[in-house]
Order: sequence, then C-alpha cells, then structure tokens
Amino acid sequence: MVVGSKLACREMMLSRSKNVGIVGAGIGGLTAAIALRQFGHDVTVFEQAKKPSEIGAGIIVGPNAVKVLRALDLGSELDRIAVEPGKHRLRNWKTGRIMFDQPMGESFRERFGAGYLQVHRADLIEILVRKLPADRVCLSSRAASVRQDSSAAALVLENGKELEFDMLVGADGIKSAVRSSLFGLESPRFTGNVCWRGTVPSEDVPQGVFSSDIHVWVGPGGHVVNYYIRGGKLMNFIAIHQADDWSAESWSFDADREELARRYADWHPALAAMFERATACSKWALFDRDPMSRWSEGRVTLLGDAAHPMLPYLAQGAAMAMEDGIVLAKLITREVDIVPALQRYEKIRLPRTTRTQLGARARAKQNHMTSPVARLMRDIGLGLRRTFRPSSTSYNVEWLYEYDAALAVD
Ligand SMILES: Cc1cc2nc3c(=O)[nH]c(=O)nc-3n(C[C@H](O)[C@H](O)[C@H](O)COP(=O)(O)OP(=O)(O)OC[C@H]3O[C@@H](n4cnc5c(N)ncnc54)[C@H](O)[C@@H]3O)c2cc1C
Repeated sequence: MVVGSKLACREMMLSRSKNVGIVGAGIGGLTAAIALRQFGHDVTVFEQAKKPSEIGAGIIVGPNAVKVLRALDLGSELDRIAVEPGKHRLRNWKTGRIMFDQPMGESFRERFGAGYLQVHRADLIEILVRKLPADRVCLSSRAASVRQDSSAAALVLENGKELEFDMLVGADGIKSAVRSSLFGLESPRFTGNVCWRGTVPSEDVPQGVFSSDIHVWVGPGGHVVNYYIRGGKLMNFIAIHQADDWSAESWSFDADREELARRYADWHPALAAMFERATACSKWALFDRDPMSRWSEGRVTLLGDAAHPMLPYLAQGAAMAMEDGIVLAKLITREVDIVPALQRYEKIRLPRTTRTQLGARARAKQNHMTSPVARLMRDIGLGLRRTFRPSSTSYNVEWLYEYDAALAVD
C-alpha cells in the first residue's frame, strides 16, 4: 500500500478528484472502483443484485491480472485464496496423451513478473468487495439508462431516481444497459458453444490422472479444462462443446447430468468419473460480441464485458476488465478533463482487447478441430514446438501475460 499510496498521491497532484459512478459490481466494476479510490476519486458503484456475487465456479487469474491486483495492494489476499498450478498440460481428449507441457509456477513468476493463479469466483469477489467501504456499493440498484450534457453525466435508475456524476462507467456485463443507452440496443451473438461448469470436492476427484496441474483436454468439437481452486479443496471443471443453437430463454440452468455423461461418453474415462462426482453443475450458453470501434461517448464509457465480451478460451475476460480498470483510473487522474481522458483510455485499451476477443474465437477453432487431418497437423505442430521452443506458452500468449497495465499509461 505504501508504494501504491505514494504513487496515487503523486498522480493526484496532477488533477482534481472526480465524482465517478460505476454501474455493475462484477470483477470489472469492483476493480475499477478500487483503482479509482486509490487515486483519490469519489466512487459509487450501483449493482442490480441484492449482493455482489458470482457463480460457484473457478476462474483463472493470468499473470497480467495478478499484476493489476498486486498494484491495488490485493496481493496477499489473492495469495491466500489462490492455487498455483505447476504446469499447463494439453492432453488428447481420448487417450490422455500429453501434447504440450508448459511449466508454470516459478518459471512464470520469473518470466512474466507474476504467477498464473486459480481461484473460486466468490472468493475473488469477496476480497474485492472488502476493499471498498460498504456505503460505496449501492445494492438492488438497477440502472435503466444514462444522460449527459457538457458538464455532467446522469445515471437513471429503474426506480426513477436520477444521480449526477462527473463521469459514468458501464461495467454492467454483456447485456449492458449503459452500452445500449450509448450505442443502441443490439443482441449479443450466440457463439455456437455451450459449456457445463462444475466443482468436485478434492477427496472425490478420481485418482491417477488428475495432478495439481491445469489440464486442457482437446477433442473434436469441444474441450474440457480442469484445475484446483479454494486452496485445493475443490476441483473446478469446464466442459465445452459446439452446438447449433440455444433455444432456452435463459443463458444458464442446472445441468442435466445424463446429457453431460452422454456428450462426453467416448472421451477419457477419468472425465466421466469426474463429472459424475460433481456436487454442483450448471449448463451455459456462450455469447460474445464483435469488437467495437469505440466505447465512450462524452463523459460515459464502458469497461469489461460491457465493452468487449469474449469467449473464455484464453481465460482473459476478467483479466481484460481488471486491466481496463487500472488504466482508466490512471488516465482520469492524469488528465484534467474527462472527455480527452476517455478518448485516451480507448486508444490504449481497444487494440489489446480486440486482439484478445478475436484470439479467443481463433482458439475455439484450434481446440475444437473435427477433421482428423487438421488435428494431426495441429498435434505435429505442438510436438515440434515442444521440442524446439519448450518455453513457449501452450497457446502462444506471451503477449497477454507480459503486459503490465499499471505501466501502460506511463
Ligand atoms: C465459462 C467461462 C469461463 C471463464 N473463465 C475465465 C477465466 O478463467 N479468466 C478470466 O479472466 N475470465 C474468464 N471468463 C470471463 C469472465 O468471467 C468475464 O469476462 C468477467 O466476469 C466479466 O466481468 P465484468 O465485471 O465485466 O462483468 P460481469 O461479471 O457480467 O458483471 C456485471 C455486473 O453488473 C451487474 N449489472 C448488470 N446489469 C446491471 C444494471 N442494469 N444495473 C446495475 N447492475 C447491473 C450484474 O449483476 C453484475 O454484477 C470466463 C467466462 C466464462 C463464461
């Protein structure tokens, strides 16, 4: 905190404190609120739910996101809730053969300046919420729209209340009301991918195959990821497959376990055993949107999934939201005027988030190849890389992990 505070004080001398409203208390909105407060701004978060919460599943905090949380003085809390895997192991869906083994742990910390961590989403939300005064997070407060003129931005809540700020941030997720208010209503795109997300108590995890590493099982038309969370007490899994449509009204519901077993019946038997032992399991449709050419209008901007929702295949959606938050906070502090600060924010962030959105779509193609010839070529490529470039990351994403958002503005 000492380093963070000194930095914040120096930055604050350059500008005056601003009154900022943030819509959405997800990972993105909360991180942005913490960053803005660290630089001395007056921040209020508006969340539609009765309490900030997340689904009962895991999330990977990549090295770039770990750097953001450390810059916000959350490093020791993060270490307390996280599990650090030894390796990222790409495996054949049926035989379990290791196709690529990427050492993580210390080698990642040395190389990227931070580790690759796995946490329970609820634990992450809890440490973020604890960093904010309770009266700065207004619950059961659903945003309907935003309005603005040259001197202020107004948030209109669904209950009719109207509140004025110097600046507003829409961190309200993929179905963002702020985004619709700025750029018009447009439905997200069903990506043709559905997933099951579940957790298994560690004592019930089938023995023999699952180590403390993160495993990615790539197979025709889908892939499965599993890793430990909550100090190793739970195994988290995500089982993804391609589907033609999503006819249900809701985007998620309790999973039909028989459907899950049927879908992966010819995959490695250890996976079926893991699915069977899940104590919690839900099914989700995966939606995204095309990259935007801009996120801001006057004194209002977007952040996280509201701006750049993406497929989860690079495990970077929340990481991008966290990076957005710290970059936005720095720029708002440095610039006296809000409008040019938001224009700079977009200029810095858009190329990176666009590359990540499109990279996640491309990853789906790599992970889900159905043609045996294409799969063979991919696997030969992985084998060659394993021999000649063993230190490369499984997905060739050094450019994601190297980045330090806290330095992006300097
Ligand atoms: C299967 C899966 C696995 C993933 N794995 C990873 C991973 O390993 N690593 C990673 O970095 N990312 C991962 N992601 C992506 C990540 O979950 C999201 O990118 C991230 O949670 C987005 O955070 P956010 O705060 O922008 O939005 P959200 O989490 O959607 O939060 C938005 C908040 O706004 C609130 N809200 C919505 N509308 C309103 C309104 N009108 N008024 C007030 N409040 C409102 C919501 O209630 C919510 O609390 C994964 C995603 C999926 C689907």
